[in-house]
Amino acid sequence: MDLCNISVIKSVMADAGITFRKEFGQNFLTNRMIPEDIADNCADTSERMILEIGPGIGCLTQELAMRYKKVVAVEIDKGLIPVLSKTLSDFDNITVINDDIMKVDIKALIDEYSEGMPVSVCANLPYYITTPILMHLLESDVKFSTITVMVQNEVAARLASKPGSSDYGAITAVLGYYGTVRKLFKVSAGCFMPAPKVDSAVVRIDLYREPAYTPLDEKLFRNCIKAAFEMRRKTFVNAISAKLPYTKELLCAALASIGQDENVRGERLSTEDFVKLSDYITENK
Ligand code: SAM
Repeated sequence: MDLCNISVIKSVMADAGITFRKEFGQNFLTNRMIPEDIADNCADTSERMILEIGPGIGCLTQELAMRYKKVVAVEIDKGLIPVLSKTLSDFDNITVINDDIMKVDIKALIDEYSEGMPVSVCANLPYYITTPILMHLLESDVKFSTITVMVQNEVAARLASKPGSSDYGAITAVLGYYGTVRKLFKVSAGCFMPAPKVDSAVVRIDLYREPAYTPLDEKLFRNCIKAAFEMRRKTFVNAISAKLPYTKELLCAALASIGQDENVRGERLSTEDFVKLSDYITENK
């Protein structure tokens, strides 16, 4: 069954007596090549478990199940559960769980289902909750190999941007702590039903196997990023001294220690810069 075919989508939903739920960010893919491409590119080896978030009626789920050993898909909308049990009935390597991913204990879920295999995440994410889901995954203590997600195109640009670019933000600097990010491809709004207002793009995060950075005080490292981007137009020194209890002298000295000008703004600082700055503050406060 081609689960990207518009007539098929309409008929399986009509049969189940359900309609698209806007509050769950339901925009289903209608171009079969997209889930094929995402599934092809979301991980490097097939002997693994894939955690999918929001399977919808299962168009990406089936492509994942054809390529990888095991798929566990978490779907919030209970109306879609009977639909998925029909559309995915040909597969014996898929488990569908009816839950809100934000309420799921990710570590416990992976321990229960992964059988010791490496795990990747793959999802066409609901756009209303992209960043919280990414942070929920990254802070879960699970060592994912890769996280591949479809997000709004402008969010993809932000996630994959470099320091100094206008797209660079707090989430970019935080993501750099966990791994490397690249944009795979753009997907036009016309490839979804209902069509969203903006285009989308697929990004892949390759997580570091071993931590690339080990800040002396992780909380301070995160707080520096948060404070620097909350007041984006301010210099790093003014933004941090307004939010955190450190003198401008200390902050200027921290910047000098990494060869940065005292008037630099947070948007020019890399993840590594934030680690070094927070380490300097920790050692000299
Ligand atoms: N994977 C399908 C596709 O590509 O056509 C559907 C993607 S649609 C953009 C997002 C899916 O995530 C919907 O099925 C929606 O019900 C589900 N969803 C929304 N919020 C969720 C949450 N908090 N936890 C789990 N699933 C969620």
